[in-house]
Amino acid sequence: MNLILFGAPGAGKGTQTGSLIDTYHIPAIATGDMLRAQRRAGTALGEQVKSYMDRGELVPDNLMIDIIKERLQKPDAKNGFILDGFPRTVAQAEALDRKLDQLGRRVDAVIYLRVSRQVLIDRLSHRYSCRTCDAVYNFAPQQAGNLPRCSVDGGDLYQRPDDRPEIVAHRIDVFLKHTAPLIDYYTAQHKLENIDGQMSVDDVRADITRRLSALRKGAGSR
Ligand SMILES: [Zn+2]
Repeated sequence: MNLILFGAPGAGKGTQTGSLIDTYHIPAIATGDMLRAQRRAGTALGEQVKSYMDRGELVPDNLMIDIIKERLQKPDAKNGFILDGFPRTVAQAEALDRKLDQLGRRVDAVIYLRVSRQVLIDRLSHRYSCRTCDAVYNFAPQQAGNLPRCSVDGGDLYQRPDDRPEIVAHRIDVFLKHTAPLIDYYTAQHKLENIDGQMSVDDVRADITRRLSALRKGAGSR
């Protein structure tokens, strides 16, 4: 099962990815996490990545394609993958289709988590991340001065520079401008699964599972 999880920053992609990993036993390829890891490593590439992310801008295609290609060739991605955070433009989607074709593979479904702009801004402005493991937490504004430690590893929680309110609206606008045409691209390929991302986490999960099961039955031997 080769999947793309698609949605604006704050649409719930990270949460749903966790469910999909458990259900289908395929790895998540979260480009945002891979980029943050590069950035933490402090390499020349990481510094390059950092300068784009801190401004809420997209990382250039050639950087991303190199990172993803390397990841897709690892053994754990042999039976499928969940791509989260890529593609973000039609040009990237075309490049991905070509790359997969060379590897004898294809995208089976694109899950689009649809969430309104105002709900996205509210969600992101209250979001904090663990410095060590990238786990994500949501806190009300009045809790900001008294944050707990990460419940996974006790790491320090902070607001990522690109989750600050003044950057958030810009990130969402960048998303809408560059990636709305992707909806048309994957609709034309009959691969888009349009999901209401404002339902509860459990309802979103159930809807995704139901649609992918129908897809698998319909796909026969594929
Ligand atoms: Zn942590």
